[in-house]
Amino acid sequence: MINMDVFHGFLDAIKHLPEAAQPAPLSDAQRLTRAKAVMRAKIDRGLALDLEACVNCGYCSEACHFYQGTQDPKYSPSRKLDLLRRVHARESSAFAPLIRLFTSDITVEDLNEWQELVYDSCTECGRCSMICPMGVNTARGVNVMREALYEAGLAPLELQAVAQEQAGRGTVFGVGPNELRQTLDQLRAQGVVIPLDEPRADVMLVTTVIDVLLYQDALLATARILNHLGVNWTLRSAGFEAANFGLLSGSEALQKAASQRLIDEALAIGARTVILPECGHAYPALRWDASLPGGQPLPFEVMAISEYLGREIKDGRLKLKPAPALAPGEAGRKITYHDACKLARHGGVMTEPRDALKALGMELVETTPTAEKNWCCGGGAGTFLINRAGDLRHKAWEIKREQIDATGADTVVVSCASCRLNFMAGAEADQWPTKIESVVEMVAQQLPT
Ligand code: SF4
Ligand code: SF4
Repeated sequence: MINMDVFHGFLDAIKHLPEAAQPAPLSDAQRLTRAKAVMRAKIDRGLALDLEACVNCGYCSEACHFYQGTQDPKYSPSRKLDLLRRVHARESSAFAPLIRLFTSDITVEDLNEWQELVYDSCTECGRCSMICPMGVNTARGVNVMREALYEAGLAPLELQAVAQEQAGRGTVFGVGPNELRQTLDQLRAQGVVIPLDEPRADVMLVTTVIDVLLYQDALLATARILNHLGVNWTLRSAGFEAANFGLLSGSEALQKAASQRLIDEALAIGARTVILPECGHAYPALRWDASLPGGQPLPFEVMAISEYLGREIKDGRLKLKPAPALAPGEAGRKITYHDACKLARHGGVMTEPRDALKALGMELVETTPTAEKNWCCGGGAGTFLINRAGDLRHKAWEIKREQIDATGADTVVVSCASCRLNFMAGAEADQWPTKIESVVEMVAQQLPT
């Protein structure tokens, strides 16, 4: 059961995040120099091709929830890369000396304008790239812009505050090892074994501040399933936080440091598998972006919990009891699944969550479009924490809501805590009656006794 007081407390805490930020005291010239240095360093062959390949056809706008929700041309995906494109054209393209003669350099005012375009109005969902005839990877360019703005001290204050907390104290929203222990003690009181800091384990479970504070049932459900499977597993208090505010804010150094904590703990206990919680961005951060020194691949598999559940069910190790029998005349549950962009489009995790949901014995219906073409809910990549982005985010969410309503499902099931937060906020604002549930919790409800 979700504690709505905690949910509202979390929303209130977000309102006060800007007060906790410690903005870098940089001059405009320093900001510009720093931002351009990042842009120059990050414009490699692939990004240069993306920047030069755009033919301004505008198809990508049709794919972007922020453009669709507002019809404002400033939110066109191709425009979000204009600043990067200008720096490339003037400084690293084949005709740079010539182009410099008739184009102006970017300014700090441009950087300030682009803060909204690459943080508030882009969840780096990647949907525009699926539509683009030239295959332009807008999400990657936007991520480079976030890195440039972060270095210039121009990330939104909310993201600066949490990134600074994670880089400094190692906590996120004040949740560190002590807070984790307190939550685990409460959950253990329900009779569930939850190992912490075991010196050796085959599986290391990672959780996240949102589950520790709000979606505790997801953590409890994961523990019950792992225990049911007889897995040798543990959480580690020195490396339990999946949320990576380096990735979200644009701090590459923090992204690496946050991933390294998890890697160090997994190596220390000899884990063969690291299971990530229902957290979209945690998946690319550890599964795709992290590596050992020298770029060597991680010596353990990294799986999202929904991916792990689907695999265990498909391979026959996890069997679920059937859904409760219906009373005469009672309609069965009709559920639909919302793919988190970072898991599905970026990560390829699409069949496994569906395998898990199909095993529940309920009717699973799909939105149109779905899976890798699924529309983003509008709350990912840290946008949920940006206060001024509330209206924009809600407009994006309305598209999602209409698609779910069209399925006739009574429940939307998610596998990302950020999506879940955004759905809950949207549902509360619109008094939307559809139930919002999580894959891992639904699976745990049908574990055989
Ligand atoms: S769809 Fe591709 S080529 Fe067309 S405007 Fe968008 S980024 Fe440029
Ligand atoms: S990555 Fe997603 S949010 Fe960003 S511009 Fe493309 S479609 Fe829009």
